[in-house]
Amino acid sequence: MARDEFLVFGSPLIEEPEIAEVVECLRSGWIGTGPRVARFEERFREYKEAEHAVALNSCTAALHLSLAALAVGPGSEVIVPTMTFVATSNAVVHTGAVPVLVDCERDTQNIDPELIEAAITPRTRAIVVVHFAGRPCAMDRISAIAQRHGLALIEDCAHAIETEFHGRKAGTMGDVGCFSFYVTKNIVTGEGGMAIVRSREVADRMRTLALHGMTKDAWRRFSDKGYIHYDVVDAGFKYNMMDLQAALGIHQLARIERYWKRRSEIWDAYCEALRGLPVFLPKAPAAGTRHAHHLFTLLLDLDSVTLARDEFLERMTAQKIGVGVHYRAVHLHPFYQERYGYRAGQFPAAEWISDRTLSLPLSPKLTDEDVSDVVRAVERALGV
Ligand SMILES: *Cc1c(COP(=O)(O)O)cnc(C)c1O
Repeated sequence: MARDEFLVFGSPLIEEPEIAEVVECLRSGWIGTGPRVARFEERFREYKEAEHAVALNSCTAALHLSLAALAVGPGSEVIVPTMTFVATSNAVVHTGAVPVLVDCERDTQNIDPELIEAAITPRTRAIVVVHFAGRPCAMDRISAIAQRHGLALIEDCAHAIETEFHGRKAGTMGDVGCFSFYVTKNIVTGEGGMAIVRSREVADRMRTLALHGMTKDAWRRFSDKGYIHYDVVDAGFKYNMMDLQAALGIHQLARIERYWKRRSEIWDAYCEALRGLPVFLPKAPAAGTRHAHHLFTLLLDLDSVTLARDEFLERMTAQKIGVGVHYRAVHLHPFYQERYGYRAGQFPAAEWISDRTLSLPLSPKLTDEDVSDVVRAVERALGV
């Protein structure tokens, strides 16, 4: 018997304090960028023990602005893992630079540090890493490579708010760390993102570029201090976060450890229950690291089963369990093949994963019963 209700993949847990804060924000009459954004930035900066935090309207914006602020543009190349969400590589494309894709490790799904140096050319300006599913990349080795070649290092932390690598927090090991508060992420603001930045100069440039290229704090120009003229010093973008979004983020952030613990419990329950099935389970977190447990990805063992991954997805959906695919590699998408000449066969580990991966629901909203339903649905889909 299937469940009555569809279990939505990545459905966020929204609680009363943020609902009250949103209402208060609406009643205050100030819903755009203002005091709540400033508060959320400060709390997030403290949580990450970072130098500077810049709230934005998405992680994609954070990635694009960090590259732009680090002077990545036409004529440059940026190293990006092919096993990621396309936002990571699209951000490079938007600067006019060329995304140079690199394969991942099969077991960690993170960029393979062994392959980075061979992809560096005289035009390379930056490396973007993605802490896949919340598991930190080999940041000691990658930082050393970036330093040796004089490259900027950007961390795509969309999965990795809680991630740590040998006592260092994800996002503080590179020049900029980019975070997402999209609805499926570990904490949510609807749409939303944050950049944490090591250098004040880069952070200031990002702030300016985030708001039309207008001089600092232009959002204050309508405040009770009277009208303030602004100067436009660059052709910037419209990437600022609103107070309405920050109203959610402030309260979600306060609960981040509780949510992490619940997802960790669910993670352990899946590992326990799915052991012995014809699937590869996620590799256990490495010693000295903290895994953010953002995605629970199963890799279907295609040598032991007769069904393809997409049939597996259909069988899960038919049992009212929402599933995700993270991801079909970037170089398999038509745009990247047509514009840059990438083709299937270039990155075997990422392709191996692309054919086999599927993500099970992993949200603090899940009840123990939901978790059992997911496990039963996986067993049935596999015919055991
Ligand atoms: C979700 C995601 C992004 C984009 O985040 P948005 O806030 O939706 O722009 C970027 N990179 C990765 C790896 C993601 O999972």
